[in-house]
Amino acid sequence: MTTLAATATTSGTLAGLLCPLLMITTLCYGIGCWFWPFATCRKCSGSGRRRFPFGRAFGLCRRCAGDGRRLRIGRRIINGLRELHDKGAR
Ligand SMILES: [Zn+2]
Repeated sequence: MTTLAATATTSGTLAGLLCPLLMITTLCYGIGCWFWPFATCRKCSGSGRRRFPFGRAFGLCRRCAGDGRRLRIGRRIINGLRELHDKGAR
């Protein structure tokens, strides 16, 4: 009986330790997305240009439209929530 109680408490402390850590990580990522909404485009690595597989021609990167930057996922979520909030206010 005592061993069962001991296992229950250890898993409880692990969850209690993991939950705030996850919350802090999410909060830090959210703040990061708030201040730096853009990250470099992974497809063109920030150049905004994309080389065609054959020939010497260069074209604009389709993913970032030649901008070289992409909106971070966290910022996209923030924008979506804000849009939802604005719709609800009207
Ligand atoms: Zn790009």
